[in-house]
Amino acid sequence: MDRAQMQEKLDQLIWRVEQARIKRSEHHIVKIVAVSKYTDEAHIRMLYDLGQRAFGENKVQSLQERIETVDDLPIEWHFIGRLQKNKINHLIRANPFLMQSLDSLELAEAMQKRLEAHETNMECLLQINSAKEDTKAGVMPEEAEEIYLKIKESCPNIELRGVMTIGAHVEDQAVIRKSFETTYTIFEKLKPHGADICSMGMSNDFELAIECGSNMVRIGSLIFK
Ligand SMILES: *Cc1c(COP(=O)(O)O)cnc(C)c1O
Repeated sequence: MDRAQMQEKLDQLIWRVEQARIKRSEHHIVKIVAVSKYTDEAHIRMLYDLGQRAFGENKVQSLQERIETVDDLPIEWHFIGRLQKNKINHLIRANPFLMQSLDSLELAEAMQKRLEAHETNMECLLQINSAKEDTKAGVMPEEAEEIYLKIKESCPNIELRGVMTIGAHVEDQAVIRKSFETTYTIFEKLKPHGADICSMGMSNDFELAIECGSNMVRIGSLIFK
């Protein structure tokens, strides 16, 4: 893919996000996180050059490598994948802008210990398993509010900013919509507790997610494939 092709893809994506957000409200602002797990350094640089600032990776090791190879660029890195407890220190060292995939109280408590030891904080989103799929990480929707508040209370080095979900993995749009609506309802209840980020929507469902209130979309294949 050359620069012109990438420009075209980015322009199209921005246009589609723009349409979807205006459908919700003129005042609704949506941030695009470019998920770079399918691409290489050259294309990350190219996209950065076209104006993209937020990038995401779903593996701690890839995140570390990326951050090292493009450390001359002021990129905002997001961690969006499953975090194993034995990788917590690596993630802390990578120091992402936002950790979007905090998926249990247990993980939060383990991270709290390590963050405390490193004398540092991390901004995180609580991941919701909004369609209750066995294959997906995240807390159950009915427990989400309680767990969120518990983490806020017992993990002072974790700065919770909101919620993240992956839409239901099905064809039926109504079911996908339901998973986004479930997450947005939780987000609304958490707003009085400081939540301001609702991260939902990927290449195949971001317009629907924005319609349901998402203000952060994570887009990979649509840009890089
Ligand atoms: C890979 C990934 C994405 C991007 O998915 P695409 O369908 O390629 O846009 C978004 N969120 C998470 C958690 C991912 O792992």
